[in-house]
Amino acid sequence: KSFYAPIRQLMLEVLDSYENALASSKRIVAVLERTNELDTGDEDGELSVREARLDYEDVAFAYDGAEEATVEDVDFTADPGDLVGIVGPTGAGKSTIVKLLFRFYDPSDGTVRIDGTDIATVSRRSLRRHLGYVSQDPFLFYGTVRENVAYAVADADHEDVVAAAKQAGAHEFVTDLAEGYDTHVGERGGRLSGGQRQRIAIARAIMREPDVLVLDEATSHVDNETERQIQASVDALGAEQTTIAIAHRLSTVRDADQIIVLDDGRIREAGTHDELVAEDGLYADLWRVQVGETDALSDSFLDRVSE
Ligand code: ATP
Repeated sequence: KSFYAPIRQLMLEVLDSYENALASSKRIVAVLERTNELDTGDEDGELSVREARLDYEDVAFAYDGAEEATVEDVDFTADPGDLVGIVGPTGAGKSTIVKLLFRFYDPSDGTVRIDGTDIATVSRRSLRRHLGYVSQDPFLFYGTVRENVAYAVADADHEDVVAAAKQAGAHEFVTDLAEGYDTHVGERGGRLSGGQRQRIAIARAIMREPDVLVLDEATSHVDNETERQIQASVDALGAEQTTIAIAHRLSTVRDADQIIVLDDGRIREAGTHDELVAEDGLYADLWRVQVGETDALSDSFLDRVSE
């Protein structure tokens, strides 16, 4: 096991530097957590959502200046209420897929649909009203738990806050705090654990009653207890909304209805955890690394790491 420790360290460092580069774009997305007022200037149609089925149909996209498509042939469906996990090595295109959903960019090929409507035909404002976004390294501001949960919704009452906190798996620990929902979270939420901050952030997103919720796991550096809590809060989400979770730690999406394995902008594998482990491909390799069975690393994985 120790033989592979340097490789794991390298992977963590690559993730780290990449995330710093990505941080600014993630903050832009974070604005969506609190505003519906983005004035995009387009006067397109309104999106109406009935059951929140999400379809990517042969989607391709390349950033300006990229020599090859950043993502290509991306084709999957998230059924209403499902949890779909997106995993894959750093730079595989996970965030790009989500940026296409929020229409930071439009596909160069293919279509993203919600309940059959091509999202390129509706205004960004109307689209984003139906979407929620949670960074899993979320920002809490100085104030109470209640203020942090309610801040996207002007006229939230106590029942709404509690209902959202329950759905996010936060209610129990909040009521255990000395002053419950009136407890101050401290500077940047520093009086709460990482897992607790994340549940508050999920509750905040749920307050807006999104039809599609995106969880974006920003870092792989958390302790085991926080990891356990994050997995529990993702599992607790239930079927109130369709959820897309970008995960660095495969454990976060272990119980997902479907796991999409991206590599180099393409979907290499898709299925449940058990199906993918049985398939013994890329996912199975990544899983073995994360659970520490590194002796089982296959050549394909080592090639990838040494690229
Ligand atoms: P990570 O796990 O590190 O967050 P990811 O799977 O989310 O990675 P993306 O952020 O979608 O990967 O990036 C896919 C590819 O597109 C990478 O090669 C990246 O360098 C490139 N890329 C990402 N954002 C931009 C951008 N704004 N302009 C140009 N290239 C970009």
